[in-house]
Amino acid sequence: MKYKSTRGKVSGLGFTEAFLMGLATDGGLIIPEKIPTVELEKLKNLAYKELAFEIFSLFIDDIDKQDIKNLIEKSYSTFDTDEITPIVKKDGVYILELFHGPTFAFKDVALQFLGNLFEYVLDKTGSNINILGATSGDTGSAAIYGLKGKKNVNIFILHPHGKVSPIQEMQMTTVEDENVYNIAIEGTFDDCQYIVKSIFNDLEFKSKYNLGAVNSINWARILAQIVYYFYAYFKSGVDELYFSVPTGNFGDIFAGYIAKKMGLPIKKLILATNSNDILYRFVNFGDYSIKGVAQTLSPSMDIQIASNFERYLYYLFDEDADKVKDIMDEFAQTKKILFKQELLKKVQDEFESYRADTEDTLNTIKRFYEETNYIIDPHTAAGVSAAWQSNHKDVICLSTAHPAKFPDAIEKAIKKTPKEPDAIKKLHSKDKRMSILNNDIDEVKKFMEENLKNEF
Ligand SMILES: *Cc1c(COP(=O)(O)O)cnc(C)c1O
Repeated sequence: MKYKSTRGKVSGLGFTEAFLMGLATDGGLIIPEKIPTVELEKLKNLAYKELAFEIFSLFIDDIDKQDIKNLIEKSYSTFDTDEITPIVKKDGVYILELFHGPTFAFKDVALQFLGNLFEYVLDKTGSNINILGATSGDTGSAAIYGLKGKKNVNIFILHPHGKVSPIQEMQMTTVEDENVYNIAIEGTFDDCQYIVKSIFNDLEFKSKYNLGAVNSINWARILAQIVYYFYAYFKSGVDELYFSVPTGNFGDIFAGYIAKKMGLPIKKLILATNSNDILYRFVNFGDYSIKGVAQTLSPSMDIQIASNFERYLYYLFDEDADKVKDIMDEFAQTKKILFKQELLKKVQDEFESYRADTEDTLNTIKRFYEETNYIIDPHTAAGVSAAWQSNHKDVICLSTAHPAKFPDAIEKAIKKTPKEPDAIKKLHSKDKRMSILNNDIDEVKKFMEENLKNEF
């Protein structure tokens, strides 16, 4: 399997090369040169890890098979159930629980694998990497738990000081491994992102310190997420189904789109948004235009533009890389793309979209709890709300976070706090470790240099 860029100037990459490249060097996103198809019959009785192996093997041909197996074994042994992503049926909807990893959010499914893959690949090539990223909460904790203690990797995560949720702050800062650096910036999430972007743009600094990223555009993250669509299909026993996906950067739902292209009988993907609804407007009206970001109860879906969207555009435009490049260049200028009726029809053959504002989200948590005695988190609630609005039968709702991560929203909805899993409870008594820095690019660079001086 070889990989190429959505903008057409990069092709013929092996999996490992594509993985290390992250964003394609022509500014596009990396996708497989050809999407493989599967025989469902062969996969249907496999356990999660076996299924992961079969699917990964279709996309990875430059890593030894036994090594892929070991990586999968290691990555998913940190989950609290052998099923990895169990599915439960509640009152007519299926809930696919993606929160059984170490940080209780679906990002663990990909980032546990990514961490081990980094360690493996760097060991083979005898190199090292320094991961740098900014987080408003979930991604940072999942990335830290994916990379902590890994050889040849350091991870620097910036978060806005005092502005991430208490549980997220606790998850990130109680990690004791020496290769983890939490940087709390006296500023906002946007400030953190700006600092990270500026540092990546300093090409001399970037290459001197081998900077890398783990953001959601890495192909390996999409790959890891394809597996649970298949797993859920087999476990549900439903013949033709819908998936409802709480969406932010379009990564998770894009994995479902690939699963569909591989031959999984998905009738349609239901794209759920909160009031940050650029993707809802795209699917329903062909209007992909930027508006400001509103803070909601589901912060991991509070996005302005969706970083993985370009991957879908590539297929929507019948794999015309020049067209993708033109449209993305235009979007960078005008901040909007308007889609004609003909294309919109094509989109709507594959997707439906519904949005849930704050009131819908709270009502959904409440109603679902009253009907089933099962507590869903505010992200999952957007998906369940969308499933209800769609009126379809046999919808599998992706549950992207454990409700205990968002106790305030749950309290608001049902006047109760969700029970904390033991692994979260244990963190309360641990010391927090972070370095508080000013909102200043040079200060962050200096901090990194000082901490890395013995290694370079
Ligand atoms: C990241 C995240 C999402 C959104 O996933 P995308 O791949 O960005 O669309 C939804 N819910 C939770 C809890 C998340 O952490």
